Amino acid sequence: MRLADLTTIRVGGDIEEFIEVDSEKDFISAVKNADKNLKKLLVIGGGSNILPQDGNFNGCVIRYSNGAGEELSSICHEFRIPYFAGIPGSLGGAVVQNAGAYGAQIADYFLSAKVFDRKTGEVIHLDIKDMMYEYRSSELKKSIGFCGGYSPRWIVLDAKLKKADMHSFSVKYPSILKELDLKHGDLVDYNTLRDTILKIRDENGVLISSNGVNKNDADRQSVGSFFKNPVVDRAKIENGQISLPHDIPLYMIPNSNLVKIPAAWLIQHSGINRMYSKGAGISSKHALVLINPQLAYYEKSGEEIRKLMNHIIMRIHETYNITLEVEPIIMQ
Ligand SMILES: Cc1cc2nc3c(=O)[nH]c(=O)nc-3n(C[C@H](O)[C@H](O)[C@H](O)COP(=O)(O)OP(=O)(O)OC[C@H]3O[C@@H](n4cnc5c(N)ncnc54)[C@H](O)[C@@H]3O)c2cc1C
Repeated sequence: MRLADLTTIRVGGDIEEFIEVDSEKDFISAVKNADKNLKKLLVIGGGSNILPQDGNFNGCVIRYSNGAGEELSSICHEFRIPYFAGIPGSLGGAVVQNAGAYGAQIADYFLSAKVFDRKTGEVIHLDIKDMMYEYRSSELKKSIGFCGGYSPRWIVLDAKLKKADMHSFSVKYPSILKELDLKHGDLVDYNTLRDTILKIRDENGVLISSNGVNKNDADRQSVGSFFKNPVVDRAKIENGQISLPHDIPLYMIPNSNLVKIPAAWLIQHSGINRMYSKGAGISSKHALVLINPQLAYYEKSGEEIRKLMNHIIMRIHETYNITLEVEPIIMQ
């Protein structure tokens, strides 16, 4: 088995040890064994937020099919949470990353997580305070790299989310308002909102089939958004420390002096060639999405996507004095 077969960006060589488990007990004991044998550990969910190296992976990859290993999208459908429809990957991956879309994030619906602490060997429950959620981050995400691997200190066994017990949802997100021809704050029902989100995601090339990659569409071989949208102090824009063009759409974060800058817009206007190299490019549907354009396995995509990533970071820094931050886990 290659990491390319387990990741949505289809990058990565042969895995030394791949273990699939379907019970919590086996999951914990597989993690314990890997740590005991000092193996580099990667607990993998949907593999939709990882950029592996091209070479072989000398370590242990564990995939759990129940609890935290279940698909986020289907759990959210059951819980009538429309915003995360179409986000690929597992419940565990989303809880670690504080996944989010269309103005909502996991932190808004999180109740608790049952985790295995690799440091103490205990199973404990974490509540929202323990998670220390931030934009696409958490205490768990910050601990990734524990014992030299690519997973957190705390392995999520299961998590509870809040049901969105609502008949109608107030729409504020610009692309949804535009698609439905609504005014800010207008109400829509769950099905309309979910279907609209899925339609927009499909048009942006960030909707993939539940079993992984849409094999015939290179634009969908990605990790979704590659960079976070930079959040900066408004004063830095006003005093010229950050020089932005007049026509860039900015989002003022309510009750703060902060401004969110659309990274996709910066990349789109950076003049970087979309077809960067054989193994790396920018999606034709969304500039924030870096892709592996090769439908057949290509052993240099990982290296070439890293080159493109560095090139974009450098170009945006030179032009705007903004340092883009990467969203996925970049394996070293
Ligand atoms: C087409 C596409 C669209 C996307 N759209 C969005 C979006 O709209 N919003 C968004 O936020 N993200 C998006 N993403 C990124 C990604 O889907 C999310 O970050 C997702 O939550 C990752 O989950 P996963 O199970 O795939 O994690 P993986 O990629 O498998 O793992 C990522 C990290 O989480 C850790 N991890 C996974 N499961 C566990 C567990 N049980 N316990 C502890 N650690 C664990 C892994 O060890 C690894 O370090 C998109 C990705 C793609 C490919």
